[in-house]
Amino acid sequence: MINRYDLIVVGSGAAGMMSAIVSARKGNKVLLLEKLPRIASKLKATGGGRCNLSNTLSNEDFMARFGRDGRFMQDALQVLNYKALTQFFKEIGVETHAPDGYRIFPTSHSSATIIEALEKEINKIGVTLICSQKVEHILEENGQVTGVKTSDAAYHAPHVVVATGGLGYPTLGAEGDGYHLAAELGHKITQLHPAMMPLKTKEEWVKNCRADTLAKVELRVDLPKHKKLRATGDLIFTNNGIRGPVILDFAREVTPLLKKYGEVPLLLNLTKGMNEDEIFKHLKNEAFKNPHAKTIEHIATLLPHAISQELCLLAGISPDEDYGKIAGASRDKLVKLLAWTPLRVIGHDGFKMAMITRGGIDLKEINPKTMQSKIVNGLYFCGEVMNLDGPCGGYNLQWSFASGALAGELH
Ligand SMILES: Cc1cc2nc3c(=O)[nH]c(=O)nc-3n(C[C@H](O)[C@H](O)[C@H](O)COP(=O)(O)OP(=O)(O)OC[C@H]3O[C@@H](n4cnc5c(N)ncnc54)[C@H](O)[C@@H]3O)c2cc1C
Repeated sequence: MINRYDLIVVGSGAAGMMSAIVSARKGNKVLLLEKLPRIASKLKATGGGRCNLSNTLSNEDFMARFGRDGRFMQDALQVLNYKALTQFFKEIGVETHAPDGYRIFPTSHSSATIIEALEKEINKIGVTLICSQKVEHILEENGQVTGVKTSDAAYHAPHVVVATGGLGYPTLGAEGDGYHLAAELGHKITQLHPAMMPLKTKEEWVKNCRADTLAKVELRVDLPKHKKLRATGDLIFTNNGIRGPVILDFAREVTPLLKKYGEVPLLLNLTKGMNEDEIFKHLKNEAFKNPHAKTIEHIATLLPHAISQELCLLAGISPDEDYGKIAGASRDKLVKLLAWTPLRVIGHDGFKMAMITRGGIDLKEINPKTMQSKIVNGLYFCGEVMNLDGPCGGYNLQWSFASGALAGELH
């Protein structure tokens, strides 16, 4: 029968393409189905188009960064860790490097290089690729996968890999189809949260500071009866909140809290970790050196002008006032605000701007040694569709490629 294959892979992202390649290299007849008109739309957008495909952490350190469930990746990383992944790309013509010794990119700094090489390999080893084919159901008989059904055809295979991604950036193909496909066959889907996206704040003053990028900002959330959250990194103020690398990671932790509490109080140290004493001494010193300068001029030795201005106003101080003439209580308030600036996170743009989905197909129902479903024989999962997500820095692509490689082994 013409529509009969050894393996059908649903979704042509990082995970799906790796599965298809690994399986076809073993001599299997593989069909790769993609619902969008072209392959790997999300992969194209990764790393701002530069594709931070992995990082140089050891398997142990890599797994630790995923938290409690990190060990689920052990077997997948044994099949394809960052060394094996960069070797794989070298073999298919993509040179990679880690300019900061940690994050790995193609040396071209273009995700297009990765996608072109993967597509070339897929063609070379005879994977059948059909785009604009949305899989609507997975076919199953007596606990055994038999194929898939799209809107206009049925395709048959004893093995199906679901590599459909999550819900973030739906324009790039992530609409949660994999959750429906898996749930139809009895799989449990955990709570789904958008993660890694800009956050909105109640404070409107942030818009006056938009586009100011601050390095080494310390963030903390100290909610009672909840694990204390801490992070440090680059932050950018926006029209209605905050974004930047440190916020992307922090958002993973904050979104479940927002759902629970509606508002999350956040404290920011914008002064590269200086404490109240150090800030007080610094300002005193500045005032000594330049006794006739305005308050804002002293603050601006620590922070960009717009933020200095806003913090003065928050402390109830006129930015143009002579620092020496400010009342002690106002000065203390200003120093406190400089040490820990409070913001209240009140929302985000949801999955529309989320780089990652928190939650997914329950890991308890997937065998980590094979990525095979424990419920339906011949059904496999890989990539973001599963309930496992990592921080910024090549973690999520490495995990997608590794789990894809393991699923493609078809144990
Ligand atoms: C803007 C952005 C930047 C990012 N940058 C990085 C980065 O630099 N480094 C990093 O590690 N991670 C990054 N990520 C996260 C990373 O892109 C994802 O974790 C990863 O792409 C997930 O791979 P996947 O193969 O599981 O899913 P996806 O890449 O989402 O691929 C799933 C594919 O399945 C297709 N599909 C879905 N449903 C069906 C269906 N029913 N039938 C047929 N096909 C279907 C989709 O169209 C899609 O092509 C970024 C994410 C975004 C949104």
